[in-house]
This record gives sequence, structure tokens and C-alpha cells, in this order.
Amino acid sequence: MATGFGFDIHRLVAGRTLVIGGLKIDHPRGLEGHSDGDVLLHAVIDALLGAAGKGDIGDRFPDSDPKFKGIASAKMLASVLHDVGDWRIVNVDVTLLAEEPKLGPRKRSIAANVSKLLGGAPVNVKAKTAEGLGPVGNREAIACFAVVELAKA
Ligand code: MG
Repeated sequence: MATGFGFDIHRLVAGRTLVIGGLKIDHPRGLEGHSDGDVLLHAVIDALLGAAGKGDIGDRFPDSDPKFKGIASAKMLASVLHDVGDWRIVNVDVTLLAEEPKLGPRKRSIAANVSKLLGGAPVNVKAKTAEGLGPVGNREAIACFAVVELAKA
């Protein structure tokens, strides 16, 4: 067994589509990023890479590389899954931090979509606000933490 931890934070900006866990969320602002800015999938990717001892998301998808511009994070995840294919995903636990939009009502559908992207692995998504504190609390950003448990397949 191996455990991996991932964290990510992206700025909320006008003129972008909000994508979280591979799902489009109806909101006037979206997450800035070289990719689609999917903060949840980025945290999960780093947790997967951490558990498998395979570096981090920036090694694989450098934001200096134009070929990754606008890439769907679900595609990045599929590539990483291929590279950790000698592991089985036992559990994925995610905590989203967002002041807006309120993600509580979407957490189950987000979890179901992430599970689908992970080939049916168990996924739990928790949604919290930052109680008005810091960049998340100021509605400038959305952050995400993820823990992944892997077992040798
Ligand atoms: Mg990111």
C-alpha cells in the first residue's frame, strides 16, 4: 500500500468556464490556468503521483509547454493513470475549499464523475468554505486537498 497527498489552488477569474472534477459548473467566473484549471483533478493527480513515487504534475505538464495550453485535466489524469497502471486505487478522499460557488450541493455529482474518470475507484468529496479567511475566503481562489491510497495491483 502507498499513500499520496496532493494540494492545488487556482485563481477565480471572469471569462473562464468553471471545471471541477471534470464537471462544468455554472458560475460567472472560472479557474485561471494553463490547462482548464481543474483544481480538484490537479490535486488528485499529484496525490496519485505522490503515492506511486513518480514526481509531480509540473514535471509532466509544464505550464511553459504550449502543447498543454487549454488541455482538459481529465486528459492529464488519463495519462497519469496509465503511468500508475501497476497500482490499484483503493480510495480517494478530497476536500474542496471554496467560498463561491457553494459546492456542497454538487459534491456528490463531482465525486461520481471523478470516480468514473478513475475507472470506478471509490471517491469521496467534501466541500468547505474558508470562513471568509484568506484568498479562498476573499473569493479570489478555489483550493483543493486530496489523499489517495494505492495498492500494488
Ligand atoms: Mg493546478
